[in-house]
Amino acid sequence: MSKNINIKSDTVVRNDFELNTVNGLKILQAKSLLKYQDFFTHAFSTRIGANTPKPYDAFNIGRHVNDERLLNDASDNRRKLCQALNLNYNNLTIPWQKHTDNIAIIDKKVDLEGCDAVATRTKDLPILLTFADCVPIIAFDPDLKLICGIHAGWAGTAQNILSKALAQMVSIGSRRESIIVAIGPAIGKCCYEVGQDTLTKLKNSCSDSFDFSLVLNTGLKENYVDLKALNLYQAIFFNVGVVSVTDYCTACNSDLFYSHRRSFGLTGRHGLIISL
Ligand SMILES: [Zn+2]
Repeated sequence: MSKNINIKSDTVVRNDFELNTVNGLKILQAKSLLKYQDFFTHAFSTRIGANTPKPYDAFNIGRHVNDERLLNDASDNRRKLCQALNLNYNNLTIPWQKHTDNIAIIDKKVDLEGCDAVATRTKDLPILLTFADCVPIIAFDPDLKLICGIHAGWAGTAQNILSKALAQMVSIGSRRESIIVAIGPAIGKCCYEVGQDTLTKLKNSCSDSFDFSLVLNTGLKENYVDLKALNLYQAIFFNVGVVSVTDYCTACNSDLFYSHRRSFGLTGRHGLIISL
């Protein structure tokens, strides 16, 4: 990342998100994307919407635990999420996320092993990614009608997965200034303490001229990192048109979101879902 780029003051929109209730599900949506809801559906799901038992309560969509009841329940919840948003569950594409920088561009439902960003221009092909503290990101080009869902934990962030996904969009034909990026709920700098090794990798992913203290919670401790801000800067330095970022911290808001860190790993997953 370089800092020698002019940042337009109207590029970043902070906290322009709204919690909406659709068929009993509570979902978080970005106003910057809702403008295009005639042909683009998006949502960040929450814990609210069904009756999945503790500690995965109550709307888990993750199939990450070897427990048949939980697996079935997660599938039911995925179906319910699609139905609530009027999306085609039979085409629902869910990559096996592995904290990589692999990006897939798809035009039909496929198995994606070890993939953390999925883009499409195909209608009626919903994409779902799952999260518990990692950063969920939507990139959308309304001109080209191109959508991309991105999973950026610290490892994906350190590999600049957002910048790489945006570059893929440009390689398909997007203009940078047409792209809208929405950064959803993730663990905040209030709660995300990392070790020296992780800190070094994140710092090394930025250009030498970038002031890394901008993404540290120096008021608390030097090793509390703002992963959302790191991705925000990736989007800004790419010169996208708009970046929306939510204030929600998943660890501070455990009534609404799952937090791997807060629950010591024993928890469910919320999701990012997008479809043309
Ligand atoms: Zn927090």
